[in-house]
Amino acid sequence: MTPQIEGRVLRRGDYRYEGLRREACWHAGVPDRYPEVIVLANNEDDVVGAVELARQEGLQIAVRSGGHSWSASHLRDDTVLIDLSNLRHVTVDQETMTGTAQPGIKGSELNSMLAERRLFFPTGHCTGVSIGGYLLQGGFAWAGRDYGPACMSVTGIDAVTAAGERVHADEKENPDLFWAARGAGPGFFAVVTRFHLTLHPRMRTTMNSGYFWPASAAQDVYGFVHEIGRRTPTEINLLCSRDPMTHGEPLLALNATAFTDTEEEAREQLSLFESCPARAQTLATRLNEVTDTGTLSRYGTDTHYDETKRYLADNMWTHASFDDLWPTFEEMLKTWPPAPSHLVVFNWGGYEGAPARPSMAYSVEDDLYYGLYAAWTDPADDDMYTRWVTDHMRAWEPYASGIQLADENLLNRPYRFVTEENLRRLDDLRATWDPDGMFVSWLGRPAEG
Ligand SMILES: Cc1cc2nc3c(=O)[nH]c(=O)nc-3n(C[C@H](O)[C@H](O)[C@H](O)COP(=O)(O)OP(=O)(O)OC[C@H]3O[C@@H](n4cnc5c(N)ncnc54)[C@H](O)[C@@H]3O)c2cc1C
Repeated sequence: MTPQIEGRVLRRGDYRYEGLRREACWHAGVPDRYPEVIVLANNEDDVVGAVELARQEGLQIAVRSGGHSWSASHLRDDTVLIDLSNLRHVTVDQETMTGTAQPGIKGSELNSMLAERRLFFPTGHCTGVSIGGYLLQGGFAWAGRDYGPACMSVTGIDAVTAAGERVHADEKENPDLFWAARGAGPGFFAVVTRFHLTLHPRMRTTMNSGYFWPASAAQDVYGFVHEIGRRTPTEINLLCSRDPMTHGEPLLALNATAFTDTEEEAREQLSLFESCPARAQTLATRLNEVTDTGTLSRYGTDTHYDETKRYLADNMWTHASFDDLWPTFEEMLKTWPPAPSHLVVFNWGGYEGAPARPSMAYSVEDDLYYGLYAAWTDPADDDMYTRWVTDHMRAWEPYASGIQLADENLLNRPYRFVTEENLRRLDDLRATWDPDGMFVSWLGRPAEG
């Protein structure tokens, strides 16, 4: 019997199939990978139905929440793609500071709802990213150093398993599934239909300063960020991309954001950036602006994430000195791709205010994060920009301790994204929860040993 599914079920060749497949990838570089069936789930029962359908038709399962995976890891051949973008229900209990959210809700939307109640959840730095894929891979947010990866603010999940069963998982019930849900990212082997969340009080003050330099200041600016990154409570976001301010040459934009109780404390924190050795070379500054994370997100998204472009991302965690990274960086500056291609660096680990990590699949992080993103228009340039990103990140491998699954480039450069021990445990759990290999996994995995 055909499983009951209320939402749309589109097969290859159906009218609207290709439109929906393309919409499932947020940028224009949609890969040539074709699910056999796309199920646009209306509710959790539809997810159960879609899992049954996959089993009946001998297909694997891929899952999409927001479609913001750079590599579109949810677009796979020979699969049923379960599209959860319509599962967007949110509940908030202001008194207990807890809530639930379905995976299709965008982080920015969730935070706008919470702001009305003076609450906060560590959602991503950009508007548009849904919480489904984001929370499964860890989740790097505004104030993330204070709360840890956003998956640490997840207390449980509701999920549909490969057997088509609806289960709940948290520290007590199905703790192994819960362990995997906090860090397995695109290698997770069930469909999350709801996250149970801890909510946080909204920060009283959010203050941001911006400093802008020509690329000639790079050694001083990056050296400074490497030096102070661990110890400052301020969140640093250092971005390099071609910009009109430097007549199309690479510009360095340092955004420093302080989350404090008072404006006075924030100003005090941000005064550190006046001591940057390159201070005298700034082209422009924007100092001590009182703002909020919604505004900061829009500012970053509008300028650097253009859905009409094709994108490739790659990344690394590192605690290296910038002197070690400089030769590759210097080479990159000579061939920097057109805007909005960019390199972003943020400070993360080693910070003494960071909360202790619980046992979870997420297990690789370091002092600083380097994310590299090429954006281009012409498909004929795919190989060139893929090489540009991949080869430069490969050149930095001797200084990398791992990667995030957020901006992964596993097809071209598989690299360590969880510890080896956790990778083995994830394999074991997959064999238990998905013995028939119904769920697709990571697009690539690091070599053992
Ligand atoms: C413009 C942009 C900005 C970004 N900014 C940030 C940021 O600030 N911080 C950060 O941490 N990351 C960021 N990312 C990375 C982003 O968080 C990840 O790509 C994340 O996977 C996107 O979530 P999504 O729901 O859109 O995932 P999708 O693309 O829908 O899914 C990605 C993978 O996650 C799995 N998955 C998704 N939902 C489910 C589910 N409900 N159940 C089971 N498996 C599921 C699937 O395996 C799927 O292949 C950004 C990405 C982009 C494109």
